[in-house]
Amino acid sequence: MNATYQTMSQETIDFAKYLPLIDLAERLLYFSRRKTSNNMILCPFHEEKSGSMNINASGNFFKCHGCGANGKGSISFMIQYLWGTNAKEDKSKFIPAIEAICETMNHPIIYEDAPSTDQNHSKSSKTKPTPRTFTPSTSKPQVLPKDMKHIKKANQLLLKHTQLSPAHFTHLTQIRKLTKETIVAKGYRSFPEKPSHFAKEMAKELPTLEGIPGFYQATPKKGDKYWTLRGSAGFLIPVRNEHMEITGFQYRLDKPRYKITCLDPNGKEHKLLSAQLNYETMELCIKWSGEPSFSVPIKEACEIPVSSNGKNIGMVKVKPMNKYLWLASTDLEKGTPATASYHIALPTSFQKEKKSPIGVKRVGITEGPLKGDIAAEILNIPFSCTPGLSNWKVCVEGALALNADEYVIYLDSDALMQKKIDYTTGEILNEIGMAIEGIAKALVQAGKKVFLAAWDQSEGKGIDDILLAGRSAKIFPIN
Ligand SMILES: [Zn+2]
Repeated sequence: MNATYQTMSQETIDFAKYLPLIDLAERLLYFSRRKTSNNMILCPFHEEKSGSMNINASGNFFKCHGCGANGKGSISFMIQYLWGTNAKEDKSKFIPAIEAICETMNHPIIYEDAPSTDQNHSKSSKTKPTPRTFTPSTSKPQVLPKDMKHIKKANQLLLKHTQLSPAHFTHLTQIRKLTKETIVAKGYRSFPEKPSHFAKEMAKELPTLEGIPGFYQATPKKGDKYWTLRGSAGFLIPVRNEHMEITGFQYRLDKPRYKITCLDPNGKEHKLLSAQLNYETMELCIKWSGEPSFSVPIKEACEIPVSSNGKNIGMVKVKPMNKYLWLASTDLEKGTPATASYHIALPTSFQKEKKSPIGVKRVGITEGPLKGDIAAEILNIPFSCTPGLSNWKVCVEGALALNADEYVIYLDSDALMQKKIDYTTGEILNEIGMAIEGIAKALVQAGKKVFLAAWDQSEGKGIDDILLAGRSAKIFPIN
């Protein structure tokens, strides 16, 4: 299998580089700037009761008069915030810090396909590869407590006004092997078939739909504006805090959308070749000068070479996009970004016995709420789930809110090894477990016992795959 390398776009790097530190700190540390120069706040790098950290807005630097932590700009701040002040000069943290900044600020992260190592791909080609845009999965909650109350009420109402379709129920029982009891307890729902009708029902019981992630105002060509919910067919996964309150929803699309690119033999965008995917039949129709030429069935990511008289004349690349999205209506009229933070997955047995997840002996850590729900059921321990790998600090918050003695990190194998390109040198970096390192360090610092779970990658990528296959992970103590 070919490893895919990604290189971060200059636009994304520049966004993080030129983001005023005060803007980042406000979002990350929940305070409101008072002055254009010195803002004294509680230092995130050491325990303290009165603020000795100065964030200088005009100079774009920070300095703590208590512990001495210091740096210039948002990237340096994020590196130290995530991996500690000792990581200040660690260049390998540069890209992950930019990703974390973008996620915090709800700014899209754009990667470009790295220059191919394939000799046929002309190296002299100066064209920019097609950018691939990621909508940030989520950001830390940026809402005031009173808004959160409104959101929690709306989230509860959402369960009331939606249902789980038989097809989704079958998926959850057959493929995810969840029991009916668990499915009911978790509150999985199907994305409403008529989103605007559903919004109307919701509006009857709420003062406003404004400020609720996912809802926005649509403008029809004719007639009045109306409220509706962004998204498409799939099932909704409630994201809960340690008190089992729903803080947001993730949803899994029934059919992933595909990104289709048509390239000429030089790797440039093709002028004559085009392709269209029929999402009903999953047939990809390849066209030449707008005329259908041939069709191929699509199941997964693939590259389809196009030739004429034995000569290569182009290539169609098909890549599925992320199946898991957050219920969010960022950038839409009167829309709201996702507010979900960590997800606490509580085993149904706990829920039945009304047992709180707070103060248990052992807690698991993984990525993604559905994966956490499945693992929590099988292992019968609560899980704190991170919304995304670069957002790992969020799940440490959830993990510590549970105040357990022991934590086991069950992250996918790709959390252990990611390949990225250093944008300055073009050098390929093997990022070894940066999220794992961060999570483990933060938990050890909090005085917790930490374990790392590992399994044979050939048996499955995620802990849910392993457990559903009837296998188990090996656990290694870190401290
Ligand atoms: Zn300090």
